[in-house]
Amino acid sequence: MEAPTNNIPTILIVGAGIGGLSFYHSVRKNLNQKFNVKIFDRETSPQDRWQGYNIQMNKRGITSLFYCTPAEVQARFPEAMPNPTPKEHHSIVIVDHVGRHLLYFPQKKFKSVYEIEPLKHDFAGMLIYRDRLRDVLLEGVDIQWGKKCVGYEESDNGVWALFADGTREFGDLLIGADGINSPIRKQKVPNLEIFDLGITSIDVNIAIPKNLADRLMSVYANAVLQKSLGRNGDSSLLMMRYIPIDQSDEPSYRVTFGYSYPTNLDIKDNILIDDNDPESVIKHAISRIKQLRPPCELTDLIIELLSFVPLSYPGEKYPFRTYHPPRRRQLRDINPSSVPPWKNDRIVLLGDAAHAMNPLLGLGLNNAIQDADLLTKELLNYENEDLIECIQRYNEKMRVRSSKEVMKSRNSALRQRRPVGNLGLVVRYSFFRVVNAIFYVIVFIKSRISF
Ligand SMILES: Cc1cc2nc3c(=O)[nH]c(=O)nc-3n(C[C@H](O)[C@H](O)[C@H](O)COP(=O)(O)OP(=O)(O)OC[C@H]3O[C@@H](n4cnc5c(N)ncnc54)[C@H](O)[C@@H]3O)c2cc1C
Repeated sequence: MEAPTNNIPTILIVGAGIGGLSFYHSVRKNLNQKFNVKIFDRETSPQDRWQGYNIQMNKRGITSLFYCTPAEVQARFPEAMPNPTPKEHHSIVIVDHVGRHLLYFPQKKFKSVYEIEPLKHDFAGMLIYRDRLRDVLLEGVDIQWGKKCVGYEESDNGVWALFADGTREFGDLLIGADGINSPIRKQKVPNLEIFDLGITSIDVNIAIPKNLADRLMSVYANAVLQKSLGRNGDSSLLMMRYIPIDQSDEPSYRVTFGYSYPTNLDIKDNILIDDNDPESVIKHAISRIKQLRPPCELTDLIIELLSFVPLSYPGEKYPFRTYHPPRRRQLRDINPSSVPPWKNDRIVLLGDAAHAMNPLLGLGLNNAIQDADLLTKELLNYENEDLIECIQRYNEKMRVRSSKEVMKSRNSALRQRRPVGNLGLVVRYSFFRVVNAIFYVIVFIKSRISF
């Protein structure tokens, strides 16, 4: 299957992230007779880099994942997407700076990921383990590790992928699924630039004890996506599965937590933080929270949460495969519609390489998988149609969909970055009250009509 033949075109995928892996499976499942496929990654092994963990998948991402993957991979989904516990509500609750509820997204409850896929509406989603999903998608895939792509060369009848080790590989199509810093995008669309949102985020992964998990669940009415909006352009987002990761008397729970604030605060204060020193970063996060948040139970909970961040490699027993030290990170994105349409040719961008989004609305991974789904469906027309016509339709549809989601995520982050005074707070409460009511009506109608 993997060896190129004279008449079956070969697809080269650079990047074995979830986008690249979804497309790899999809080529084998849905385009098996039409294409050979090979996949490369710059990492030296699956464990090389921290793979993150809790992440939100929406209905569209889940539907596309089912489309792309074969039955044996789907059978393993519960490893990455465990069934909701009776207490968990796979939805988002947004609270204000003192913990008052602003928004409770009224998603229906479901028993497993297999119940989400057949739904005819989009009001369902699941908080999943990103690292475990990647493990599941790696199963049975023959990845060529240690292959850092540095660019490509086109020829009349194909394209060469060029690697840092001096080797090169020939194919008919080259898929750049190589993330936000994609060298393939930089060569193909050099004017497509990364946009800096002026927001600093400190993201951490923590194991927290049950009593803290219970208090958080209580503040957020058992929602697994827990967001708070400060008054000073700051916000927090916590993603937690209420599933213990150990069996001790006081079990712990895996949490992904991010605190973000306007970058100009750090510039204005001219403070010195060593991003290579986790202790310095966490101390800074706590002092920002104390500066920007009022003293209250919610602020205390957030600070207590940060006290569980490991400040050095915590050893094999810790529930992270690879320790990921906390550091400040700038929120960035790429809007594919910020430049004129690029040339439709043998070089195709997929996922963050084409349209990285900030994580606040949880849309990036979902769009990467939708790209894999869309590209497969367009390539199904190959043979009746020219290859470049298939790519042209993919590029057009991918750009329109993903650009909308990039801008939705960007505008939402920029709105949050603005400090709000007393009048602004009134506007915020009224806005969420209206949005809440509209959501209730839409979800009620859609879920009745389309179940
Ligand atoms: C804190 C955080 C929370 C997030 N939460 C969510 C969420 O809740 N929901 C959601 O949908 N999205 C979320 N996202 C975004 C999501 O993680 C990304 O959109 C998604 O991982 C993109 O997948 P990808 O396959 O396109 O790229 P990546 O996951 O970046 O994979 C790229 C792959 O390419 C490889 N690579 C890179 N350069 C080269 C090279 N030169 N040569 C060869 N290989 C290379 C890398 O090693 C990697 O394996 C979040 C992101 C962050 C940072």
